[in-house]
Amino acid sequence: MEIIGLSFSFIFGLCVGSFLNVCIYRIPNNLSIIKPDSFCPRCQTAIKWYHNIPVLSYIFLRGKCAYCGQKISLEYPLIELVTGILTSIFFLKWHFLPFWFLFSIIACYLLIAVSVIDFKTMLISDFFSYSIAIIGLIASQFNPNFYGDWYQRLLNSLSGIFFGAGFIWFLAFVGKLIYKKDAVGDGDMFLLGAIGSFMGYKGLISVIIIASFIGSLYGVGLIIAKKADRVSYMPFGPFLALGCIVNLYNYWDFIAFISS
Ligand SMILES: [Zn+2]
Repeated sequence: MEIIGLSFSFIFGLCVGSFLNVCIYRIPNNLSIIKPDSFCPRCQTAIKWYHNIPVLSYIFLRGKCAYCGQKISLEYPLIELVTGILTSIFFLKWHFLPFWFLFSIIACYLLIAVSVIDFKTMLISDFFSYSIAIIGLIASQFNPNFYGDWYQRLLNSLSGIFFGAGFIWFLAFVGKLIYKKDAVGDGDMFLLGAIGSFMGYKGLISVIIIASFIGSLYGVGLIIAKKADRVSYMPFGPFLALGCIVNLYNYWDFIAFISS
């Protein structure tokens, strides 16, 4: 039984990943995500359904458009694969809490889209952050890391929103004093607030720790590879998103951790 659920969630995730690719390409360009069907960005030919099967089509077409031979970015099958794998491991972990599984995996999907768009454009659309915050508030009632009556769960979720947004606001304030320019953006503020709705203030601490750690490694890597210098802008959203996804899968209460 488990293997059926696992395969189904993997294939479902691949298809969602394929749709996320459409959103990632179209939303920053202000294009509709529903119409028209996918088309090749070079020859504009509409892509046939059998050329649009997640991952498999990329392999069969050897990474090229079937009509004009334009190279297809490896990014597409990678995003499909990551989405498929995430969906199946979240299913394995949370299938006994179906509502939580549903809400947390939808949050992951939105966070993947936010991250890739932030990497490419350095922008975080508030639409995603508001959506995540609303879903997180509803999900507070099913959140296995929150306890108590409905209003205590709701308050925990709200505390995360205020702590998350407040933390980035404070960081921006200090950054402006030191660097005399905007060090972090409003987009990050809304995003961490939204993430807080799923995490509560306790879970946010580990999100911030994970994001800062991986983000610094990435920054140092860029400097070593001479692709950036110390004043370069770096997207922070993808690292916050990563910290959130890790915690949605396995919640790490940092306060309990250091006081134990
Ligand atoms: Zn083409």
